Amino acid sequence: MYHLSQAYIDGAFVPVQGTEVVDIINPATEQVIGTVTLGNRDDVRRAIAAAQRAQSAFGRTTKQERIDMLRRLQAAVLARTDDIREATIDEYGGPLSRSQWVSEYASQCFATAVKTLESYEFTRQVGDATVVMEPVGVAALMTPWNSTAGSICSKLASAVAAGCASVIKPSELSPIQTHVIAQAIHEAGLPPGVVNIVIGRGADVGAEISTNPGIAKISFTGSTPTGKAILRAGAETMKRVSLALTGKSATVILDDADFNDAIPKALSAGFLNNGQACIAGTRILVPRARLAEAVGLVKSTVASLQVGDPRAPTTVIGPLVSQAQYDRIQHFIRAGLEEGATLIAGGEGRPERFTRGYFVKPTVFVDVRNDMEIAREEIFGPVLCLLTYENEDEAVRIANDSAYGLQAYVFSSDVERARRIASRLEAGGVMINALKHELTAPFGGFKQSGLGREYGTAGLEAFLEAKTIVSA
Ligand code: NAD
Repeated sequence: MYHLSQAYIDGAFVPVQGTEVVDIINPATEQVIGTVTLGNRDDVRRAIAAAQRAQSAFGRTTKQERIDMLRRLQAAVLARTDDIREATIDEYGGPLSRSQWVSEYASQCFATAVKTLESYEFTRQVGDATVVMEPVGVAALMTPWNSTAGSICSKLASAVAAGCASVIKPSELSPIQTHVIAQAIHEAGLPPGVVNIVIGRGADVGAEISTNPGIAKISFTGSTPTGKAILRAGAETMKRVSLALTGKSATVILDDADFNDAIPKALSAGFLNNGQACIAGTRILVPRARLAEAVGLVKSTVASLQVGDPRAPTTVIGPLVSQAQYDRIQHFIRAGLEEGATLIAGGEGRPERFTRGYFVKPTVFVDVRNDMEIAREEIFGPVLCLLTYENEDEAVRIANDSAYGLQAYVFSSDVERARRIASRLEAGGVMINALKHELTAPFGGFKQSGLGREYGTAGLEAFLEAKTIVSA
């Protein structure tokens, strides 16, 4: 049993002043595996004050000193790979292979930041001016429950690379994963106050961060409504705000695609991370003339996907994170049926052999119009829509007919043709015939999927301000 009741402030683990105690539930078993005492506004104010004290010295560190710190963070997080994986399985229900990937990705974020930093010029000559890129100041890094280790480490890597002391506010649903990461950060031995961590409610700790004048920059990952609230709240003190938000990504399967390859990959993109992925490809577009073939392949592929114990190496889809997520998914499945969509896989309730755990059936609808709720809202569970189109123009129109624009996928046997489609899609990233990441390239969303970019040089510059110096 875990009993977590500390924040990490000024280089030390300290008891929180908050008093709200919340159960930590293993989503596969519904058993209480611990408790967390949430921090409150006083805790986060102390964390902000510590970061402010650390900022001026940290902001003046050299590139080489920060590279050394990033390497120490990388080594410390790498040493915790197994603990991160275990916490991700126990607390979040992440399937083994995904949890392993996340735990490795967490340390890679620091290695990638080192690479970026090594080639980055903080001072450049522009005409008669010398332009100096300076750290923006104390940064708040706010993360969601569906990507705790990855989001914390990718944001922290950029903040440290830029010379920004930070206050991390992870989701209140991720205390064990946060605890492991906090220990690793402590072991990296950065100067006190450079990194501070407080878990608390969004409406309390998150709202304090969004308005506190001690915070210069917010890097937020979460839902679009919360992102808007933070942007509004932060405007008063003109915080620099980067937002990585909701997605409703389209997967465009072109008529020349090899469906035996494309359909299983499209389903993998849709069911990624138990369907709880911002980049999940949840609207799969197929040419009308090949719908029957697509439906057959969807049915056989979904039937072969193992849902269950996230520890089993063969499990593809584990439980959802919470009862609230389970209920939300049931709502959307009912909404799809009420609006006239047809199920070709899954449906309401748990998979047959489950009596407990927040497991849902991998579900796919056809007869979906793009104006239905299931095609417009981010469901955030393994529930996908199969839509049809007549020609390329219609495919692009449907794909772009969304408030969101985080990611898209294109499948075709002709990569040049797929690239032409990619150039017309309103999405921050497009993957062609593949599901892979490039950690040094910008990551972020068009439209209501976000503001700004993370990763690589773009991610670093999100924590910097340009100062132009011209002398006689
Ligand atoms: P959320 O918006 O509910 O919460 C995210 C974080 O914001 C949490 O730490 C929460 O405590 C905090 N928060 C909540 N209300 C707040 C407020 N009023 N002020 C300040 N902070 C507040 O999101 P979630 O449910 O934790 O995560 C799922 C969402 O995150 C999905 O929409 C998903 O698409 C999105 N997401 C986006 C990306 C991306 O890179 N674009 C990655 C992962 C998740």
